[in-house]
Amino acid sequence: MNRTDRTPTKKILISGASIAGPALALWLGRCGHEVTVVERATSFREGGGAVDYRGSVHREVLERMGVLETLRGLDTGMGEQAVLDESGRELLRLPASFMSGELEVTRGDLARTLYEASLPFADYVFGDSVRSLTEHATGVTVEFEHGETREFDLVVGADGIHSTTRRLAFGPEEQFRRDSGWFFATFSTEAPKALGLRDSGVLWNDPGRMVGIGNTLGEDGAMLVFHAPELTYDHRNVAAQKELVLRHFADAGWEVPAVLRSVPDASDFYFDSLSQIVMDRWSHGRIVLLGDAAWAPAPGGMGNGLAVVGAYVLAGELATAPDHRTAFARYEERMRPYVAKCQKQGAGAGRFLAPVTGKQLKQRNRAYRMLCRRTMRGFFEWLTTRTAEAIDLPAYGLPTVDRPIRPVISQS
Ligand SMILES: Cc1cc2nc3c(=O)[nH]c(=O)nc-3n(C[C@H](O)[C@H](O)[C@H](O)COP(=O)(O)OP(=O)(O)OC[C@H]3O[C@@H](n4cnc5c(N)ncnc54)[C@H](O)[C@@H]3O)c2cc1C
Repeated sequence: MNRTDRTPTKKILISGASIAGPALALWLGRCGHEVTVVERATSFREGGGAVDYRGSVHREVLERMGVLETLRGLDTGMGEQAVLDESGRELLRLPASFMSGELEVTRGDLARTLYEASLPFADYVFGDSVRSLTEHATGVTVEFEHGETREFDLVVGADGIHSTTRRLAFGPEEQFRRDSGWFFATFSTEAPKALGLRDSGVLWNDPGRMVGIGNTLGEDGAMLVFHAPELTYDHRNVAAQKELVLRHFADAGWEVPAVLRSVPDASDFYFDSLSQIVMDRWSHGRIVLLGDAAWAPAPGGMGNGLAVVGAYVLAGELATAPDHRTAFARYEERMRPYVAKCQKQGAGAGRFLAPVTGKQLKQRNRAYRMLCRRTMRGFFEWLTTRTAEAIDLPAYGLPTVDRPIRPVISQS
């Protein structure tokens, strides 16, 4: 007997175990599918800066996933952030809601919460990667770098901005990646004592560079942003990325040299370009993309919100459509306008975080001052929340049980 699209239980492979992958694994597992998640890293990946959620759509999805309360318990509690000039003099203070939304957690805490919530519903394979995908009438034959070749009904690429699934199914990354010319790095550090940070942060700039240092939950972390339009880098070579960052900040003043001392030994160092992924379709036959692999919006474009909302919509459409083709088409139709709005918001992130000239820096600080006025705060919050809420969330009726439903797979 051949398995058909109407067979309720499918074997589904998800590539990538960060935010989008585990969020989808949770939903698909709850719906009764047999889910395998393959992650290139040899173990669960910690690290990353703070990520925030805002508005009723994010709240609703996290609630339906059953992780909202856990995440609330992990809220960073970040307070004000002081904006400094080149010499370290304080210019203004950004209110907590400006940068941290309604709920702010570290990316590591978010990923771990989703991973743990999805564990009963999915088999995780660490330290492997898809090597080839061959689609045929009834499924996809998947070759792995290390594991045995396996058959799946559907394959989901949730493997980030440098997605291997996307390269195999749609072609080289360069066709889809739009670089802004800015780069960012995050890593744990020890904040200089003189800053006296406690549940607060500072943002230092000189033209084309930003160093943010924050303290939350008793830990110090740094985020560095810089403008280097000609820069090329190897996204897999962390040692070379560390060198790049050290070189670009080597002559920076203030407390930057102290922050840079953490770079060589930082085990959670994360580096990438502020880039967006723009594609005219996210599915190809039985292969579909989700999260940054499909639509990376760049920081500020709510990539984490898009990842969990996208996972919910994809699972919901698969549960309610007559076949995967219809489900993928409906998923695209529903997500595209939302993604476009988030990408529009993320497009200016580099320019805003690390303005290139002294004049642009002054203009940015004037904009900060204006947005900080009590009368304008509500407007700014309304603006960002409006983007986060720019999608109608169907009910779908997906199961919200907290125990695994292990399906019996009927073999073809
Ligand atoms: C360790 C880490 C730290 C991050 N820190 C920040 C940050 O500070 N600020 C920020 O704005 N964004 C950060 N990001 C990106 C952020 O998580 C995403 O922009 C967003 O959450 C969307 O998530 P995603 O799951 O679609 O993609 P990602 O979070 O990028 O996850 C992709 C996952 O796929 C895995 N992967 C890649 N290639 C393969 C492969 N061939 N086979 C199997 N698995 C593969 C990766 O290891 C990763 O776990 C970070 C990502 C990671 C992985």
